[in-house]
Amino acid sequence: MTHQSRLLAEAHLHMPQGVAENYRYWGEKDTVFIASAKGCTLTDVDGKTYVDFRLGYGPIILGYRDERVDNAVIEQITQRGTLSGFSTELDTTVVKQIKGMCPNIDKMRFANSGTEAVMGAVRTARGFTQRDRVAIVEGSFHGLYDEMMWKSDIEHWQPGSKVAPKVIPFGGGIPERSRELLSIISHNDFEALENLFATQGDTLACVVIEPIIGNAGSVAASQEWLQRLRDLCTQHGTVLIIDEVKSGFRVAKGGAQELYGIHADLTTYAKAMGNGYPVAAFGGKAHVMDVVGSHPGGVVHGGTYTANLVALSAAHATLKILTETNAQQTINHAGEQIQAVLGRVFTAAGLEHAFAGPPAMFGIHFSATVPTNYRDWRVTNSELYRKFAWELIARGVMLEPDSREPWFICEAHQHMDMGWLEEVATQSIRVALAAKD
Ligand code: PLP
Repeated sequence: MTHQSRLLAEAHLHMPQGVAENYRYWGEKDTVFIASAKGCTLTDVDGKTYVDFRLGYGPIILGYRDERVDNAVIEQITQRGTLSGFSTELDTTVVKQIKGMCPNIDKMRFANSGTEAVMGAVRTARGFTQRDRVAIVEGSFHGLYDEMMWKSDIEHWQPGSKVAPKVIPFGGGIPERSRELLSIISHNDFEALENLFATQGDTLACVVIEPIIGNAGSVAASQEWLQRLRDLCTQHGTVLIIDEVKSGFRVAKGGAQELYGIHADLTTYAKAMGNGYPVAAFGGKAHVMDVVGSHPGGVVHGGTYTANLVALSAAHATLKILTETNAQQTINHAGEQIQAVLGRVFTAAGLEHAFAGPPAMFGIHFSATVPTNYRDWRVTNSELYRKFAWELIARGVMLEPDSREPWFICEAHQHMDMGWLEEVATQSIRVALAAKD
């Protein structure tokens, strides 16, 4: 019996499924317990090491236990404390840093998680427009709150069908009513976009979108489609919310919006903003954000842990490094090298493959062409990917065994051994291709 299985057996007595949150349960045999992390490496409680491309679902942008960030946090909390429920100078300092990187931001507020940032942005959009309806895109994920926990049931959808996938809740406990104000469209579908605005444009408070879907293998909106969405939002007085919880400070200093040159009215950030410390924010145009406040009819935003000094000092140090060093180029270069290695391996195996998204957050799809939306993803060979991923995990490469979760790259990946990756990927794809169901 491994130490991991002993820990899981005990944890079952104390937590549902023996884990602290649902997505960590990988089954009785494969649920991972981590002993330590450093750079781009994880070590589990049985002493097995992994080069990690999961990076805790994306927050690690520099590397685990980055001393530049950790020391800044330690200094801050030992000199000033963790929180007081009052303002600090660091609040404005961090917003100014973000404004220097992201020209789409005039004013901001902080939050503790991506979920909370999205909730804040949506409430602000509703307060600003005095409208209630919200639209999202198939395959996206915007956090664990009821209204956003509806998804397209792609697994039971007939590929190629003109009928949209059924929309279902993520699970139990989500009231049917929370779906009433939600519309769902598909990336790069011009007809659906025009139809959404023609039928609901005047009641639509906001469209929330990940232009590069960090939860569907980095499948991306085309420049033209995103521009049309931007224009329609402007015409109809609808707030465009770009959810950069995964892409922000990762795919470029100014996130996906810098890559497209298209700006949102409101943006949400989290993850890479603090290199693993829990910090998030939402913000955007001053006249939209100024509906937030305690004036009559103002949009309420707050919370005990908002802008605590652990979070803000981590954000301050991380954003300073991303601004002042060439970390982002290093990450992009490592991502390109890793793609080149994997591309060689797939080509040698005679396998059709396509990489989606930018090098810091890319998806691998076993298909002839890059999927353009979630429905396209459904026709990729995600089952082969799943087998490949499990073989990689067995050989010390950690990733999510679902091709909807991208490969995340951090600065510390520059030190990894590309020859080793090529070797283990070659073995893994060989075994995966030979495996019977
Ligand atoms: N938005 C996007 C695009 C995300 O990917 C996630 C989480 O993965 C969230 C929101 C929710 O963030 P959190 O898990 O920090 O609440």
